[in-house]
Amino acid sequence: MTDYTKIYINGEWISSTGTGTIDVINSTTEEVMGSIADGTVDDVNLAVAAAKAALPAWSATSTDERVKYIQRLSEGLGARLDEIATTVTGEVGTPYIMSQMAQAGLPSLMAGSYVQIAQEYAFEETVGNSLVVREPIGVVGCITPWNYPLHQVVAKVAPALAAGCTVVLKPSQVAPLSAYILAQIFEEIELPKGVFNLISGAGRVLGEALVNHPDVSMISFTGSTRAGKRIMELASDQIKKVALELGGKSPFVILEDAPLDEAVMAGFQSGYLNGGQTCIAWTRMLVPASRKDEFVAKAKEVAESYVPGDPMDPAVKMGPMVSKAQQQSVRNYIDIGIAEGATLVTGGTAQPDGCEKGFYVQPTVFADVTNDMKIAQEEIFGPVMSIIAYEDEEDAIRIANDTIYGLSAGVYSGDLDHSIAVARRIESGQVDVNGVRFNPFAPFGGYKQSGMGREYGVHGLEEFLEVKSIQIG
Ligand code: NAD
Repeated sequence: MTDYTKIYINGEWISSTGTGTIDVINSTTEEVMGSIADGTVDDVNLAVAAAKAALPAWSATSTDERVKYIQRLSEGLGARLDEIATTVTGEVGTPYIMSQMAQAGLPSLMAGSYVQIAQEYAFEETVGNSLVVREPIGVVGCITPWNYPLHQVVAKVAPALAAGCTVVLKPSQVAPLSAYILAQIFEEIELPKGVFNLISGAGRVLGEALVNHPDVSMISFTGSTRAGKRIMELASDQIKKVALELGGKSPFVILEDAPLDEAVMAGFQSGYLNGGQTCIAWTRMLVPASRKDEFVAKAKEVAESYVPGDPMDPAVKMGPMVSKAQQQSVRNYIDIGIAEGATLVTGGTAQPDGCEKGFYVQPTVFADVTNDMKIAQEEIFGPVMSIIAYEDEEDAIRIANDTIYGLSAGVYSGDLDHSIAVARRIESGQVDVNGVRFNPFAPFGGYKQSGMGREYGVHGLEEFLEVKSIQIG
């Protein structure tokens, strides 16, 4: 049985220097799943020292050597798929079938992608009389959120290690347990000591200490825009590189000629993914005013098909929210939407029928939303869809781009070229046309306040590399 109060530093499971613990709560049963150490700044210092000591040898290994470990990591994750899926479903409430794919399968796939990407990557090139070499940036601090807890970790750790960096990981304290499975796999595959280190605890304490540490060369962060701003502010003191994957309030533009049923289904597939606890969720559904009533009726029907229930039940498409705090926050937004004058089409703030325990929120749809409302501008991170009517295509594009965010978007039309033409005009890092088409090999990241830098694929590897030009006389 895993002792989650230990932390993994320099290839050893050791006790935190802190004495406190943080309980990890099952979002369905509300019972304690485990307790992690509420770590201290001393833990950060130990972890960074280990990563710094391991850096010279690790960064000097060949790509082939590093890739061998990443291949074994991918296999190790694949072998523990069910355990990972069950753990994350317990923490986050992701329906189990979805968990197997997105919470467990995707991390293994992501690690595997870096085997090929690193092997094919040209770490050196000649430009005129210069030799341009790409070198690992150094010790990387990875700080991650709870909604896709292992995927977000692996999307940083695999390319960082492939680049030749060493890592200190501070996972979310809300859903940290899969990170222990990752550390166990690194132990089993005998990754050299100190190359990967795991600490645990609160963001304000450990996260900020990691950002401030002079031996950490880069912070790779996924989480809220609020915490991202704080990290950027702190990092500026040392001109430390930051890669930020932040929040979103993604539009889904349904064009006049779109097939209604398919478009609405796709909208909810994205908007209600993981109970809406998804940074790329399309939660602003932009529909032509001339067809609004049809869309609202269909949206009500589709939303009500997401009957909340036990996420371990394979028939259930909507589990609970991750925590009591998240449940309360989402319900507050539903109250705000009502107070702002939006029409509540379905859902609301009551506990769903048949769910006595668990941090559930009813699948909720608002119509008659205007884009200046809070529910249209702020990330809710729950199953709350806002339907906004537009007059014509120009109006739709204007509304889609009228946001501080720019992480993701959807466009649906009966004509693919038409969808792509509109997609080109949307200010966001991802646009899916005519369906949900997540591609873990394509660069992923945000425009505007959704972040800076890119993860996944070659772009994700390059984030962890410094570029040096050697001029040859
Ligand atoms: P959060 O910002 O509260 O926490 C994320 C991580 O940062 C946690 O590990 C936390 O402990 C740490 N942290 C918190 N404050 C910190 C600080 N001041 N300094 C350093 N570290 C700090 O976010 P969350 O609630 O865990 O996750 C939800 C948010 O993450 C949403 O806003 C969502 O949109 C965003 N998100 C973005 C992406 C993306 O790729 N763009 C992906 C998933 C989630």
